[in-house]
Amino acid sequence: MNRLKFIVLLTLAGWGVFSLSGCRMVQTGKSQQAEQSMTGPKQAYFPQRDSVPYSSPAGNETKDKLQYTFPTPYQPVRLATHQITQGKREEGRSVRNVVLMIGDGMGLSQISAAWVANRGALNFDHFTHTGFSRTTAANRLITDSGAAGTAMATGQKTLYHSVGVDTLGNRLPSLATLAARKGLSTAVVVTCGLTDATPAAFCSGNADRSREEDIALGYLDCGVDFIFGGGRVQFTQRADGRNLLDEMAARGYQVATSWEATQPVTSGKLIAIFQEGQIPLAAQRGDLFRKASMKAISLLSRNPRGFFAMLEGSRIDDCGHQNDIPLLVNEVADFDQTIGEVLQWASNDGHTLVIVLADHETGGLTLLGGDLKTGFIQGHFSTKDHSGILVPVFAFGPGADNFTGVYENTAIFTKIAQLLELD
Ligand SMILES: [Zn+2]
Repeated sequence: MNRLKFIVLLTLAGWGVFSLSGCRMVQTGKSQQAEQSMTGPKQAYFPQRDSVPYSSPAGNETKDKLQYTFPTPYQPVRLATHQITQGKREEGRSVRNVVLMIGDGMGLSQISAAWVANRGALNFDHFTHTGFSRTTAANRLITDSGAAGTAMATGQKTLYHSVGVDTLGNRLPSLATLAARKGLSTAVVVTCGLTDATPAAFCSGNADRSREEDIALGYLDCGVDFIFGGGRVQFTQRADGRNLLDEMAARGYQVATSWEATQPVTSGKLIAIFQEGQIPLAAQRGDLFRKASMKAISLLSRNPRGFFAMLEGSRIDDCGHQNDIPLLVNEVADFDQTIGEVLQWASNDGHTLVIVLADHETGGLTLLGGDLKTGFIQGHFSTKDHSGILVPVFAFGPGADNFTGVYENTAIFTKIAQLLELD
């Protein structure tokens, strides 16, 4: 009987017409009516799309979105030392720093696709501990990034399409704000707009994630030291006429609108926001995510009390929604190369826990074939939306053993908060 109910629920949840809008989904039909009755009416939401036109990455001359040969494999990093500090440190914590890396929409199939494409070697191979996270929202089996990000950032399940608030709409403190209050340094680095769901869950909150200008206001007082992402228009071209970047500067933030402008900054608070809209996909942005992630670590690691950094490979999800394996493989490869640089730094540091996970899977991707010698990969998608399967959690460093097993996505918050003694 329970199994029958589960199948019915799965069918209902997947039943609807979804428009393709990255992680930000507009759903029509029965379930939206159900959602409206729970959360109030929602306006139709059509986010600005990628300003960079679609261009097929190298190695995909056939323009087939379901198969791909990754042309230039890279070598995963070699970790020189595995001297991970397990013992208690002087101030009592065994973990000084936490780097939480979120692959938006990155299930095991997405990782496996990149593994085949890169000839059977990824930086993921370095992880020593793995677990699984359940992704359901408070009111839906299939989550969106808002509810999933909220669970991980705040420890509470919330409604589909809400972000950074509980099911009643009350703002919740996130790992980033709690860490800042404790005197740790903090960073949020994403490859999407700063008012998109995942960064919003760590820096702001709203019962309706489509209220992006309201969400941008959260950055004024979130206390995060290094903020990197796109979506400048929500800060500077607002209906209320305010310029939030000017206001952040008045509150002591250094504001960088180009990579060059971030280079002289070696201390203090910094918001780096280069694009009016989305940050381009990996093929166009190059190693920007890697550079921004390591900039975060170099800024934050000056604090002897420790740091918390959330680094998101945001666009993996978009490629899943587009059912596009060439784009997807390039996004996961960029994320994996960032993981390599972070792991290399963390393994030398010895006091840093690195956690890599997904908020949900996107696309229902299946691998149908491929070749480890040539990096050829062939797949199939079963949906243009998110799916409801468990997502993997990878951990490395002190405290990594806390992340084995099967648990709710809210446990991500609980485990990190305990290890950093944030409560
Ligand atoms: Zn997502």
